[in-house]
Amino acid sequence: MQIDAPTQAGGHGKSDTVAVFSPGRYQVDPAKVRYSSAGLHIFDRNTGLNLLIDEIAAPSSLYSRAPRHVSIALTNRCDLACAHCFVPKSRAELPFDVVTQWLSELDANGALGVGFGGGEPTLYPRFAELCQHAARETGLSVTFTTHGHRIDQEMAARLRGSVHFIRVSMDGVNDTYESIRRRSFVALLSRLKVIRGVAQFGVNVVVNERTIAELNEVAEVAADFGAVELLLLPQAQTRTVSAVTDETLRELQRWVDGYCGPLKLCINEAHAEGFPTCDPLAAERGLRAYAHIDATGTIKPTSYHSTGIAVGEGGVLEALDLLAKVIGEDRP
Ligand code: SF4
Repeated sequence: MQIDAPTQAGGHGKSDTVAVFSPGRYQVDPAKVRYSSAGLHIFDRNTGLNLLIDEIAAPSSLYSRAPRHVSIALTNRCDLACAHCFVPKSRAELPFDVVTQWLSELDANGALGVGFGGGEPTLYPRFAELCQHAARETGLSVTFTTHGHRIDQEMAARLRGSVHFIRVSMDGVNDTYESIRRRSFVALLSRLKVIRGVAQFGVNVVVNERTIAELNEVAEVAADFGAVELLLLPQAQTRTVSAVTDETLRELQRWVDGYCGPLKLCINEAHAEGFPTCDPLAAERGLRAYAHIDATGTIKPTSYHSTGIAVGEGGVLEALDLLAKVIGEDRP
C-alpha cells in the first residue's frame, strides 16, 4: 500500500508530471475510486490525498476507461505573447455544453481530475461557471493553469470552493519575469495574494538558459507567497525559441539535487529521465494516465503532440480508443 500526496490526482496541469520531492501530512478522506494496472487508487480531491492499494490486482475488465487526468484547452486566446508559447495563435474555443458533456463522461468512466488551460483559460467567457459546474456535477478535481493577471477579487469569489488547485506561470522574478511575460512582477505578486485565497496553488517555471539562474529566487518567492509546488518545465522548441540545452538540463538536475526548500518539486514526464523522481503510479502509463484535448476538440497524448483525433458525437472515450490505435498503444 502506498500513501502519497501529489497535489492532485498524481499530477495535473498542461502535461503529465511526476513528483521529485514529496513532503506533507494529510488526512485520509477518500472520495473517488479508480482501478488500473497500478492497483486500487483512492483519491480525495479536497486534500489531494492519493491512496494506492497496489496489493489489489484488479482484472483489466474493471480498469477505468478514462485517463486518470485530462487537460482541456478551453480557448487558444491569450492576452500575453510569450516567446516560448506553443499554443497556436487562433481564436479556437470549445463550446460550454460540449465541455460539460465531456466532463460527465470522463467522471463516469473513472477520471480523477481535469485541468483547464489554453491559451489563457480565464479568458474563456463562462470560465467560473464551468468550474462551478465541474465541482458541483462531477467528482473530478478541478484545476487550471493561468498567467494569473486576470484573477481579481470578483473572479476569486466565484472560483472559491469550485477549484482544487491552481497553477500560476512565473518563470523568473522582477526584470526577467517582465521581459518574458510583459506584465508587472509586482502586479503578479498581488494576484498571488488573491489566488492563495481561492485554492492551493503551485508555480510553473519554463526552464531555459536564462531562467535557470533565477530558480532559487522563484522558489523563494513562490514559497513566501504560499505556493506548495514548483513545476519545472524545460523549454520546448517553438517557432521562435529552441529547446532547452543539455547543459541547462544538467544544471537543473544539480539544482534539484541541492534544493532543500519546502516546495514539492515536479517535472514533466518528457524530461524526467535523470531526475530523482517518485511516481507511485508508474504502472499506469500513456493514455490510461493522461490525455489532452485542445481548443479545436482534438484529443492527443499530450499538448505537444501533433497526432490527434477529433472528439466527435461518440464522445471522448471513442476518440481515445481510436487515438490508441493510431499511436499503437495497447489498451487492456
Ligand atoms: S501566458 Fe501562456 S498561453 Fe499566454 S502567451 Fe504566455 S505561454 Fe502562451
